[in-house]
Amino acid sequence: MTPSTQSSRLADIFAEVLRRNPGEAEFHQAAREVFDSLERVLERHPQYADASVLERICEPERQIIFRVPWVDDAGRVQINRGFRVEFNSALGPYKGGLRFHPSVYLGTIKFLGFEQVFKNALTGMPIGGGKGGSDFDPKGRSDGEVMRFCQSFMTELYRHIGEYTDVPAGDIGVGGREIGYLFGQYKRITNRYESGVLTGKGVGWGGALVRTEATGYGAVFFAEEMLKTRGESFEGKRVLVSGSGNVALYAIQKVQQLGGTVVACSDSNGVAYDEAGLDFELLRRVKEDDRGRLADYVEQRGGSAEYRAGAKIWSAAEAGRVDVALPCATQNELDGDDARALVAAGVLAVAEGANMPSTPDAVRVLTEAGVLFGPGKAANAGGVATSALEMQQNASRDSWSFPHTEERLREIMQGIHENCARTAEEYGEPGDYVLGANISGFTRVADAMLALGVI
Ligand code: GLU
Repeated sequence: MTPSTQSSRLADIFAEVLRRNPGEAEFHQAAREVFDSLERVLERHPQYADASVLERICEPERQIIFRVPWVDDAGRVQINRGFRVEFNSALGPYKGGLRFHPSVYLGTIKFLGFEQVFKNALTGMPIGGGKGGSDFDPKGRSDGEVMRFCQSFMTELYRHIGEYTDVPAGDIGVGGREIGYLFGQYKRITNRYESGVLTGKGVGWGGALVRTEATGYGAVFFAEEMLKTRGESFEGKRVLVSGSGNVALYAIQKVQQLGGTVVACSDSNGVAYDEAGLDFELLRRVKEDDRGRLADYVEQRGGSAEYRAGAKIWSAAEAGRVDVALPCATQNELDGDDARALVAAGVLAVAEGANMPSTPDAVRVLTEAGVLFGPGKAANAGGVATSALEMQQNASRDSWSFPHTEERLREIMQGIHENCARTAEEYGEPGDYVLGANISGFTRVADAMLALGVI
């Protein structure tokens, strides 16, 4: 087929995605980004088009939506909606986190699941892609309420998952506490100590060292590899990290270990600035141990720290030089204007610790300005890759040391970087990590789907 036939074929498939998934703007955005990378792939590999691989990839293998009733501390019955979208299992059991956030609807889970398919393929590990979650808001809920919600959620979910079927983990709003309650209920219902059914478990009961740190560390390792291509490193760099959850926290720690200074991070209420560099240990204590807010961190830190309620972190770029930006909060948090501010502040590299944090406009502004841009499905793959290492340890009833596991994570991130860079070059766009990640992830899944037949 000629190139123009391929682009019109892609346009037709995309139109069908829009028609079949109305109102799911984030899913449309994630699909469009992958479609934009695939024209040359379909030209070179007509077998993918012949077997309708792309059409199949866009349709989740299974979508589960369920009611989650639970009783709050006041004795009132609450109802939430639970989701699990089992997107693609060509490479292994469905794998991907659960997000608990009031904004969650089917379109959120579908966009995350779609990204996860390619991200997981990029890790080179035997994991398919899926995602789940609920519109439950854990903020302000007691431990007892969170436990009852998780138990009710798992009372439906357990029948759909298993170490060879579907292996959930955490995402926004789901950390070690929630994974514990979910695992406990799964164990109780099934009467099986099936460690490999969930990842992100506590290290004392089947969890893997480094899993907590892995997404943030991995994003920094990926950024480090991008910087190396320009003869640069994190040493002496001024860095902005958005968010202050699990990903942001450990990105901050790793940047500091590599000699950079993180001058600001954020939460949904505002921004914490600290020209002297954020105090990682205090921040970790406030966020993880006390479940506090950034305003509490700034109050305890004193000195050079300052909290600006209602501010947006990327506007910090207007106040001085920014060498590296790591968006680690949530989808579409960095728009075209933010990208222009970062470019004006001299940013060298942007690596996405969150899933799809940059809008398409922002990606265009950054890449046109020659900024090194690491898309989430490559840059934040360290979390799920370490989940796969946790599954390996569970399967062999083994546990690895922190340094060994961190080294494995670093090698995996270097491998993903190299793979994306090589693929981009092969397809005539050196340095285009978006193209490299999309093509490399897609072809690995597509080849497996071809081999497995029309299923
Ligand atoms: N939620 C994480 C992600 O977006 C991790 C998923 C996992 O470990 O399965 O990749």
